[in-house]
Amino acid sequence: MIDIRDTGKGTSVVRLTPARCNIYTVTRNSRTILIDTGISFDRSRIEHALARKGVVPEAVVLTHTHFDHAGNAAWLAREYGCEVVVQEAESEALALGETPIPAGTHALTRGLVSLGKKVAPVFKYEPCQADHVFGETFDLNRFGINGYMIHTPGHSPGGATVVIDDIVALAGDSVIGTMPGSPFPPFADDVELLLTSWKKIIDTGCETFLPGHGKPVSREELIREYEKRSGLF
Ligand SMILES: [Zn+2]
Repeated sequence: MIDIRDTGKGTSVVRLTPARCNIYTVTRNSRTILIDTGISFDRSRIEHALARKGVVPEAVVLTHTHFDHAGNAAWLAREYGCEVVVQEAESEALALGETPIPAGTHALTRGLVSLGKKVAPVFKYEPCQADHVFGETFDLNRFGINGYMIHTPGHSPGGATVVIDDIVALAGDSVIGTMPGSPFPPFADDVELLLTSWKKIIDTGCETFLPGHGKPVSREELIREYEKRSGLF
């Protein structure tokens, strides 16, 4: 199933294909960028989906460099000539093809993380040299897209959120859509920092938040969870 969102301001945001993580195309006036790239096993699926849509993305924008999001960045750069954009705190991990492993936010996921550290080589992917490395914000108008990226660390150090037409925000793993009513991610490096980033994400004024995994999260859901969590600090 392909989920299409029109911002009502000339941009369409489409989930390209079900993959290990949500990969979205953002298109405006026939110019397309990709948000995240999935895991390397998703490659042929991405290739077919792009061919079916008849689009050649001109850039790949990464919400962060975990292997399930950055796994095909190098391939997309090579095969499609995509320019790659990443936040500076993770440009080195991307250049090495390494996943900065996050901490679990509760007991079960903490256990999974210690397991993950033992199997870290599995989290390697093809290294990729970014074309654009940004600090706080990055303007996407250079690719014909009315939008920008903001640094939203917490899940990982170089986490980024992509804001399109001030309507839709693609939040990577800063927000999760796999557990209805609970958009707080099960993995995060720094929970307090993530909440600071949630405030930034809410302050974009966007109505819909598209997560790296699972279904869209509404503004109301995000604010409700933010108020619940921020009360703990
Ligand atoms: Zn992640």
